[in-house]
Amino acid sequence: MENNNELNFYWDKIGDRLRNLDKAEVKNIIADYYTNKIKVKDIIAKYHLNILSSQLIKEFPPIVVDEKCPYDNEKMVVNLHSRDGLGLSGEPYCPICGHQNSQYCRCKNCLEREKKYLEDLRNKVRDTYLIPQEKVEIDDLTLRDKLFLATVLKTGLNEETTKIMGSKLAEGKLSPLADMDQDVLSSLVSKNIILVDPESPLDAFVDENFPETYYIYKVNYLLNVTGENDNHDQLIGMLEYPKSEEFYSEPKISLGFWKELALAECKEFLNYRMKAVDFSFNPGKKTNLVLNNLLTKEFFNRSNLAINLYLCCLRCSVAG
Ligand SMILES: [Zn+2]
Ligand SMILES: [Zn+2]
Repeated sequence: MENNNELNFYWDKIGDRLRNLDKAEVKNIIADYYTNKIKVKDIIAKYHLNILSSQLIKEFPPIVVDEKCPYDNEKMVVNLHSRDGLGLSGEPYCPICGHQNSQYCRCKNCLEREKKYLEDLRNKVRDTYLIPQEKVEIDDLTLRDKLFLATVLKTGLNEETTKIMGSKLAEGKLSPLADMDQDVLSSLVSKNIILVDPESPLDAFVDENFPETYYIYKVNYLLNVTGENDNHDQLIGMLEYPKSEEFYSEPKISLGFWKELALAECKEFLNYRMKAVDFSFNPGKKTNLVLNNLLTKEFFNRSNLAINLYLCCLRCSVAG
């Protein structure tokens, strides 16, 4: 603070208690404080100031620095620090709008810009996902669609029954295997039976390929099925709880499902057992063949299956 006279003060921001003083006098006060190190209470007495000792430096005008505010092109300023501190105090800020060159700035311009930025993102999401899709007729759903959809609705439907929540799908157990979960969701989405909700949280979409790529458990989904009548609750009820007769009437398909799921459950169980003994194991083609074979022969008796599976695990671990 040696060259008091060379400092570029921003006089508009001087404190009210010093505002009526002559600029030269203010500079003297500042010199007495920083350069001559006079006690604050003596400075106050010397200049007949009506001010608390602790308040003096807060009255000093800020210093203009070499940065400019990107919003109004005003030169930015910094407040003077107490003489015990080092350097200038705090971050430079714009004396007009209060902006600071920091990503955490909450000045009204930055807030406005952030709002605009988020609106732009939302519009991009809407442009991609708010495409009017013809609703899928309930009668056009295959048995597989119905099973998938019922599971997804039971697991993820919100209280208002308006949306399928990704977070609920993540918490719940859609299927025994993560791959299978993904298949269920992508199958329903690809057939437009459920649609990605254009109002899903923005962070549900991956930055690199925004907004085409999304996290399947972060977006929400909208049901895109229509029934004979327009009663929403009835429709949800029918989809969430499909009649078991529909599955009985197609025993071949239903058995296929059963095997598919049982196979997945076996893999899950196998993984679980392997993990329990710290054995890194990734079920591959051969495992699939063995399990499929067991399922075909033993599908009426789950406990046998479990025993066989367990023996198979033992054999594998002995052989491995
Ligand atoms: Zn500004
Ligand atoms: Zn700002």
